Amino acid sequence: MFCKLIQSIRCALPSTCIVCGQAADRDHSICNDCGYELPKLGDCCRRCGIELNGGLSKRSCCTSCQLSPPSFDFCTAVFPYDSPIDKLIADYKFSARFDIGYSLSRVLASKFNTYYIGMAKPELLLPVPLHKSRLGSRGFNQASEMCNVLSKYCGVSISNSVLTKIRNTEPQASMSSAAARKANLRKAFAVSRLDDLEGVTHIALIDDVVTTMATTEAISRMLLEKQDCRIDVWCLARTL
Ligand SMILES: [Zn+2]
Ligand SMILES: [Zn+2]
Repeated sequence: MFCKLIQSIRCALPSTCIVCGQAADRDHSICNDCGYELPKLGDCCRRCGIELNGGLSKRSCCTSCQLSPPSFDFCTAVFPYDSPIDKLIADYKFSARFDIGYSLSRVLASKFNTYYIGMAKPELLLPVPLHKSRLGSRGFNQASEMCNVLSKYCGVSISNSVLTKIRNTEPQASMSSAAARKANLRKAFAVSRLDDLEGVTHIALIDDVVTTMATTEAISRMLLEKQDCRIDVWCLARTL
């Protein structure tokens, strides 16, 4: 409720660019100059979305995905996790800058709609959940707010109750190895409200940043145990 109030107050203010603070004429508040200057992703692995660093042709798979493909169908981001996107996302999450979350989510929605032209869109958006203690201290789930924008502009339903985080884990960024990151997430998530998955064959899993894929992989595996479906992962930023 409080978050919605802040959001409506911010949305009522004159539009300023979320990057440079100057007046923005676009309704989603990134001025043309900054839109042009924001970091862009180059050729990426078609499965995990990691940027390919030469030697591999466009739309091919990275070595890691060739050896051991993830359980989700693909992962794609709008931006590389680079300046100023890293700071913008931190301000969105930790300072409740809903104007930033909204603007970045609009860019995500645009890429999402373009990607599925001529194809069936996912039938359901699932935000990566926060543990209730994290949700309580932050006041909102950044991925759920992103889903609200995607749902409005892409016409796809959301369920906030299929996925829950049942164990409060240490931040994945603080883990020193892939094994530690995997162990940190063991039994951290659960799938509930199976009714919401009835008849669903294509899911979009939504997160703000995808780093090691440990979270998206853990959730995708768990979903696939419950439901035979295709899972596409969409995020604002992918680490390089
Ligand atoms: Zn600007
Ligand atoms: Zn890959």
